[in-house]
Order: sequence, then structure tokens, then C-alpha cells
Amino acid sequence: MNRKYRKTVIAGNWKMNLTASEIKPFMEQLKPLLPKSRPCDVVLCTPAVMLPAMIKAGKDAKVAAGGQDVSKYEKGAYTGEVSAAQLADIGAKYCIVGHSERRQYHGEDDMLVNAKARVLLAKGIVPIICVGESLEQREADLTMEYVAYQVKAALHGIDATQLRRCIIAYEPIWAIGTGKTATAEQAQEVCEGIRAVIRKIYGARPARAVSILYGGSMNAKNAAELLAQPDIDGGLIGGASLKPADFAAIVAASDQ
Ligand code: PEP
Repeated sequence: MNRKYRKTVIAGNWKMNLTASEIKPFMEQLKPLLPKSRPCDVVLCTPAVMLPAMIKAGKDAKVAAGGQDVSKYEKGAYTGEVSAAQLADIGAKYCIVGHSERRQYHGEDDMLVNAKARVLLAKGIVPIICVGESLEQREADLTMEYVAYQVKAALHGIDATQLRRCIIAYEPIWAIGTGKTATAEQAQEVCEGIRAVIRKIYGARPARAVSILYGGSMNAKNAAELLAQPDIDGGLIGGASLKPADFAAIVAASDQ
């Protein structure tokens, strides 16, 4: 982390877990466990249908709400889709785009991820842009090449002012939901590489100001070491964000 230049963000990704009626009891457990003086921005990303409940319950605990996906279209005949304007209208402040599960199960490619990031920015929502390599790519020594491509594609057409409102989440696919965390060195190496890619496109100042999160089996035990790395500015947390005590411990671990 480098608090002098950028925000620390701890974001939970609930995926398709819990229900709207479980949010209030969750927040009642979480709130007293969160550090009084908040070392970071705290976000919980839920399915769109649960966002109003999360926004309501999160106000008191100073937990922002985020979506997990958005349509690339502004509006119209796209049954089942949720637009950036609709997310913004209900008060979502963040939205994940390009999560590996969407890339894998819904065929999302880098151009689509870029389009989604852009519609979010246009409506004032912070995109949390996920990138990360597969195990095969890591073993073939293609990690940085692949992740650099994903970052460049995701940021295509986004100017330096908009970049300030983007978050990048480095999530090695082999570490998501598997219990296999990247070592702090592996995670730092790629996050540093991502910042170098951004520096090449936008210059030193904008690159220095972008928050880059690590995601992939981050938990209460390994969070402090990962968050101590100079280019890791927070976490995107799946499984551990469903447990108030674990999630609060990760938030506390960002106070360093
Ligand atoms: C995620 O879904 O983005 C994630 C990192 O999940 P987990 O923490 O469970 O690996």
C-alpha cells in the first residue's frame, strides 16, 4: 500500500450467495467488528437485486455497495440486463467487471470488459476491473504478457481523468476460491507490473494514483502480508467476505 498516493480499498464479492433478508443480520454482526477509525474504503458487491438492501444496511456501518456486473448497453430491449444508469440510480458506488467467472461462464472478452468499464464511468460508478492469468499461463511464463494485454484492453479509450476513478483487481484464476493464495511476492510482482503498464500509457502520476487490489483466497490470516506489499492497495475477497469476523479482520489488516 502507499496511502500517500492512493486509496486502500477492501471489497467483498458475495457472488451468488446470501439473500437480501440476510443482509441486515450480517451487517449487525459486521459493524461492531469493524475498526472504529477506518483504514480503508469498505465495499460489498452483491447481485443487483440485493443492492437496495445492502445500501440501506451499509449506510450506518459506512460500507458502500457495489454491483457484480453491468450491461454494456445504455438502455433498451436487453431482457435480464441491468444498466449502469440503473445501478447509479439506486446508489451503487462500485461495480466489478471482467471477473474470471464471468469471463469463463459467460464468455466475456476484453473488449466487452472495456465497454462495461466505460459505461460505468459515464454514470459515475467506480469499475473494479478484474484481470488475471490461468494456471497454464503462469506455468508457461505468460502471466505478465497476458495480464498486461488485459489491462491495456480494459483501459482502451479511458482518459487519465477517468483512470483516477478506476480500480484494477489482480486475481490469478488459479487462486480464486481454491484456497491457494499467490505468495505476497508473486502478487506484488504482478501488481507492480500492472502499474508499470499503466505508467507506460498514462505517465507516472496517474499510475501512482491507481489502486490495485489483489484477489484470490485472501483471508484473515494472509491479508496483512499481502497488504504490506507496496503495489497492493487492498483486496477483492470472495469466500472470506461472507463471514463478518473474517471480513472485519481483513479490513483491520489494512491498517498498517
Ligand atoms: C473473487 O471471487 O474475486 C475471489 C477472490 O474469491 P475468493 O476470495 O473466494 O478466492
